[in-house]
Amino acid sequence: MTTLFLCHPAALDHQTPFGHPERPDRIRAIERTLEQERFATLVREAAPEAHVDTLTLAHPEAYVTAIREAAPRQGWVHIDADTVMSPGTFEAAARGAGGAVQAVDEVMGGKVANAFVGMRPPGHHAERTRAMGFCFFNNAAIAARHAQARHGAERVAIIDWDVHHGNGTQDIFWRDPSVLYASTHEMPLYPGTGALSERGDFDTIVNAPLNSGDGGDIFREALETAILPRIEAFRPDLVLVSAGFDAHWRDPLASLNLTEADFGWATRKLMDLADRHCQGRIVSMLEGGYDLDGLSQSVAAHVDALMGH
Ligand SMILES: [Zn+2]
Repeated sequence: MTTLFLCHPAALDHQTPFGHPERPDRIRAIERTLEQERFATLVREAAPEAHVDTLTLAHPEAYVTAIREAAPRQGWVHIDADTVMSPGTFEAAARGAGGAVQAVDEVMGGKVANAFVGMRPPGHHAERTRAMGFCFFNNAAIAARHAQARHGAERVAIIDWDVHHGNGTQDIFWRDPSVLYASTHEMPLYPGTGALSERGDFDTIVNAPLNSGDGGDIFREALETAILPRIEAFRPDLVLVSAGFDAHWRDPLASLNLTEADFGWATRKLMDLADRHCQGRIVSMLEGGYDLDGLSQSVAAHVDALMGH
């Protein structure tokens, strides 16, 4: 099993003010973890910067231009209360999207079995025309549209197990029957969307909200009863993962009680499903995860599973 890992030092140049949970150390913790001997066979590549034509797969060009122009020459600019741009933010965000697209190219082309993109800022809160929740460009949405436009994928499934609901991804695909968006998330919690009743115009939005305090058994049950059967029935040509690890019990921003083993289990379940429908094609992208130990242990369990360990 060949697994691709995409990253780029520009991910460290998206600076946030002291005390902000979405910080460069997240990437350093992941890279340190993946230096362990058992990850030596990962194929490692630098995430390329997405061209504007790629970013506009999910966002209007005027939005992309506005984000580019909003970046400060020094210091910070607040886009909202907790979404901040520094001079390096645009390149970091564009390389996150570029990494996701490169991963899709290599997985769809059969060069690697699956891929994990370990970049920041995250993407799933970014709506078509609104940056929010630490996110600027919706990497999962861009990756899905790229797989359809360049590789002939007819149906793409996005599973999002970040502890927060991916309002941005839901917004982008609300009226699109060719993309299934399925999410588990704590509710009530930021951003407030993700109720069971939010199903999209074509019933291709699947929300499985969890309660504060829920642990791995309830998470696994939600996947087995509400999420995986829907992805199975959708028969995807590619599976994308919005892989946030802030549902880990150690995470400071939420109150679910998952362990790293739960993320490994979920990854294996998805791989079985992808084997049946799309030659195992999975592209996973980092979203949240703000406790450095919880994050790095969860990424390790996720990548271990992707590598077939
Ligand atoms: Zn999150």
